[in-house]
Amino acid sequence: MKMIVQKFGGTSVQSPETREMAFKHIKRAVSDGYKVVVVVSAIGRYGDPYATDTLLELIGAKKTKLSKREQAMLLSVGETISCAVFTNMLKESGVLAEGFSGGQAGIRTTPNHLNAKILEVDTERITAALEKNDVIVVAGFQGVDEHHDVTTLGRGGSDTSAAALGVALRAEYVDIFTDVDGMMTADPRIVEHAKSLRQVSYNEVSNMAYQGAKVIHPRAVEIAMTAKIPMRIRSTYLDGEGTLVASGEAGHFDVKERLVTGIAHVTDLVQVSVQTDAKRTQESAFALLADGGISLDFINISATNIVFTVPEEKKETVEKLLKAKDFSVMSKTECAKVSIVGAGITGVPGVTAKIVRALAQKGIQILQSADSHTTIWVLVSEDDLIPAVNALHDEFCLDFE
Ligand code: ADP
Ligand code: MG
Repeated sequence: MKMIVQKFGGTSVQSPETREMAFKHIKRAVSDGYKVVVVVSAIGRYGDPYATDTLLELIGAKKTKLSKREQAMLLSVGETISCAVFTNMLKESGVLAEGFSGGQAGIRTTPNHLNAKILEVDTERITAALEKNDVIVVAGFQGVDEHHDVTTLGRGGSDTSAAALGVALRAEYVDIFTDVDGMMTADPRIVEHAKSLRQVSYNEVSNMAYQGAKVIHPRAVEIAMTAKIPMRIRSTYLDGEGTLVASGEAGHFDVKERLVTGIAHVTDLVQVSVQTDAKRTQESAFALLADGGISLDFINISATNIVFTVPEEKKETVEKLLKAKDFSVMSKTECAKVSIVGAGITGVPGVTAKIVRALAQKGIQILQSADSHTTIWVLVSEDDLIPAVNALHDEFCLDFE
């Protein structure tokens, strides 16, 4: 069987009109002789009645008394509804189709109900269904654990469902349909002239995704990479080529090494600085935070203080933990991490000078910086986010083909 997985995100399934556009891509694949496994997200985004965040509000969001298992029961409903609605549309149009929940489609996960990992996909049932149908629709973002309890896969989980199904079924492609035409050199909501990347390696895309380019979930890229299943990130609404994510070794294309893949960003960070001395030691501060399950980023250690960043939602816990042991703590809220992502970026002479100049020219203060083999990060105030991303994009990404 020639097989393809097509995942449609929240905006792609949000209205009868957008579902109709999604349907065109499915029809084309069917007429090209593919069996199509469609993976759907919940309908719409925050504020829409069945979007995941709206469901969460029904139980008082983070203040809920429900256990994680019970929360997963509720959160998974958005995709279940979407799957039923989508399957109904296909059947009404005369397509041979059948819908499945994640569990029914054989997606088995670990038991951490709100952030489960896919352990395996038992394809027996869907393979049988594909014999009788042209299309099967699977609710994304969900699976079941060993007790048959519903689990959810965390943010971007439908991308992961699609990749896991693609690998298990050895699909020719896993297509991620969304509201933009591919992985772009920056978030097009921030950089107006961001460009879509035509061909990108798994590593480049997963780096961009890890640094905040939320058009695809990094875990999904890693799963596809293990079996070298090519992915395409495409627009539901346009007929563009989108981005092909694949690897040179598998013969998909010759990966051109780029100095910079793109600029990604993460917002809602807090920069915390903690005074330390002989009594309130650095060792004990880090131990407190580690025991509290807090993971830190942008760590800087100097003789009398430590500085790090955490997500906004961890601010209260961090301050409580440290102040309980008499540490003096200062927090700067509304920070953003801007990442220059690219395989060839580090070690190139003059890169830091370029970054500093590009930001200084716009009057943007760098609060902190760090680098790794593939990425250079700068922390800036959220007020500076848009000019910072644009300045770095202009500096490094304008000469794209
Ligand atoms: P879906 O609901 O289809 O999963 P998402 O909202 O998760 O869609 O992802 C699509 C969004 O990702 C786009 O609307 C875009 O604003 C954002 N985005 C952030 N960075 C990038 C990037 N580098 N390239 C493309 N889109 C990006
Ligand atoms: Mg998404």
